[in-house]
Amino acid sequence: MSYNVSPVGFVRACFKEKFAIPRQPQLAPAARGVLELVAPFDSGEAVQGLEQVSHVWLLFLFHQALEDKPRLKVRPPRLGGNTSMGVFATRATHRPNGIGQSVVKLDKVEPGRLWISGIDLLDGTPVLDIKPYVPYADIIDGATNSIASSAPQLIPVQWLKTALQQAQGHAQRLDEPLVALIEQCLAQDPRPAYQTPGPEREYGAQFWDVDVRWHYPQAGMICVLEVIPAK
Ligand code: SAM
Repeated sequence: MSYNVSPVGFVRACFKEKFAIPRQPQLAPAARGVLELVAPFDSGEAVQGLEQVSHVWLLFLFHQALEDKPRLKVRPPRLGGNTSMGVFATRATHRPNGIGQSVVKLDKVEPGRLWISGIDLLDGTPVLDIKPYVPYADIIDGATNSIASSAPQLIPVQWLKTALQQAQGHAQRLDEPLVALIEQCLAQDPRPAYQTPGPEREYGAQFWDVDVRWHYPQAGMICVLEVIPAK
């Protein structure tokens, strides 16, 4: 048996590629986006009352990780990418039906548009449903998960002076907290866990319309090298 679902909207997000997106929502509060609703949900009626809510659950499609053949076991990056786990024990993107869920902060509600932050969503992500966060039911005192017991450990992020100036300039132009966004995302150490790069190895990712390049001058430390317009 199969069912058809169709998006209620699409996210316009700061993240233009999967690399360097935090692994869960709320890890980068400066990660912002707009959820643009599609007809018939864009009229304003569908979001009436939502301004009384601080956070929403988004149910969405991992549209850039959809696969025909379901996987029963996955290798979560959180566990270094070499430990296999049952798909239902993880939040891996490769999963039956490709459905993800994230709690995000609701910053502003307009007819047809929700301004959201603390997101872990790629630009263009199709959203299947939106539900208000209900603290009395959704906060579970004493809940445990020993596979992912706490947020990833953060590493220090330093800047070349020129890179910081570039980021500040783009932040002003975009009217976005770009410096905080870069620091919050890179502090999660997006590098695959199995790589131990030397200082000569450079990494890059696009945030909004800029390319950010960084390296690891020493183990456990990031230095941002450049923030330039994306090609
Ligand atoms: N919070 C969600 C959940 O638990 O279902 C997502 C968790 S998943 C581990 C987060 C990762 O999904 C991000 O780091 C990003 O690389 C990836 N991602 C985000 N949006 C995506 C999309 N539309 N398609 C494919 N991958 C996506």
